[in-house]
Amino acid sequence: MNTLPPAARPFSPAAGAAPHPIVGRCTLVGAGPGDPELLTLKAARAIARATLLLVDDLVSDDIVALAAPGARVIHVGKRGGCRSTAQSFIEKLMIQAVREGEQVVRLKGGDPFVFGRGGEEVEHLRAAGIEVEVVNGITAGLAAVTALGAPLTHRDHAHGVVFITGHAKPGSNGPDWRALAQTCHAARLTLVIYMGVQAAAQIQADLLTGLPASTPVALVQHATLAQQRHALCELQHLHSTLEREGLGSPAVIVVGEVLQGLLALAQTAQSRVA
Ligand code: SAH
Repeated sequence: MNTLPPAARPFSPAAGAAPHPIVGRCTLVGAGPGDPELLTLKAARAIARATLLLVDDLVSDDIVALAAPGARVIHVGKRGGCRSTAQSFIEKLMIQAVREGEQVVRLKGGDPFVFGRGGEEVEHLRAAGIEVEVVNGITAGLAAVTALGAPLTHRDHAHGVVFITGHAKPGSNGPDWRALAQTCHAARLTLVIYMGVQAAAQIQADLLTGLPASTPVALVQHATLAQQRHALCELQHLHSTLEREGLGSPAVIVVGEVLQGLLALAQTAQSRVA
């Protein structure tokens, strides 16, 4: 007997199709930071079984290629310079497709529940009486730091980690960076900032009110992909380093003493070149 709750049961592969009548289903799937090898087995199976995939920006083509040959793929992000599809339209499309019996996979970069609007989508689908399953993905902030070979926590340097957005919903107040800087300093936390490139100068100025100017920073663009690039610097040089290195979105900004060793290595290498 299978005693696992539905969400914990593994997907059965498409080939072993169930003898039950076709019932639509919706799964929010985390595609991870980019490298297809970082996809979970559960995500790969859900993608392979989907009849309709709604794909966000930042999901690599190699991952979309895991879809079945007959599956319909709709890109709903800003790819190719187009405006992204309205959130309400995506939600309507998902609801309609599930009602028509489709196996819908909503494919999102990283983890669907970390700055992925997964929460909003789940709420809308549930309100429409549709059950949703969510499959975790490796979030970009975690992958970016690991890709550099540094930890997010460390018993000597950081007791915890804060994932935070540098780009709040229009019309709402963003994070209180000054308060955050003081908390991170006092509680020894690593700060991982998503969508922070545009506001980097202001974030730097605010963080410097509570964190030392020499606090190590890593800027990681396209983490885990072939085109990954990064720079290490001190907090006081965050914005100028972004500009000098030409690093842009998608990138995470990581701030904290866990990067101390990496920054020291980078500074030594730089002084050898100079
Ligand atoms: N749900 C996603 C985050 C979506 S918000 C996740 O869990 O990762 C989009 C932001 O994520 C980007 O602006 C950038 O800050 C970050 N991001 C996503 N993919 C990235 C990557 N491969 N490298 C660096 N940052 C990335």
